Amino acid sequence: MFFIFGVSTKKDKLDFNQNMICPSCGRYGRYEVTVEYTCFSLFFIPILKWDKKYYVKNSCCGSIYLISNNIGDKISGGGNVNLMEKDLKLVRRGKVYSIKQCENCGFKTDDDFQYCPKCGAVLNGNEHKRQ
Ligand SMILES: [Zn+2]
Ligand SMILES: [Zn+2]
Repeated sequence: MFFIFGVSTKKDKLDFNQNMICPSCGRYGRYEVTVEYTCFSLFFIPILKWDKKYYVKNSCCGSIYLISNNIGDKISGGGNVNLMEKDLKLVRRGKVYSIKQCENCGFKTDDDFQYCPKCGAVLNGNEHKRQ
């Protein structure tokens, strides 16, 4: 008898949407939750799942966080979960657009310059700082 088996990494998007003000970029966005796991299948039927990890992605800037399996399991089980900032472990910070304006010449930039590219003055103002 032949066995057809395989080990693969799978990624599923969970049915979860939570509106929030992004802790990374300060804009309005949504948390999207995906689960990643390694799956052993026999005759193309998943038998075993392990190494499960739940990721949260911010729709605004694409920052990626890891959440605990406890919380993730609750979400995938359809539980009512409200993600808090403390539940999120930052994996990769997305592109954060902060607009700086030079106090000397008024030049505006959304790059993270230390010095004004136009006149060379120190840029320290960040207009979009969170309170
Ligand atoms: Zn963001
Ligand atoms: Zn300047």
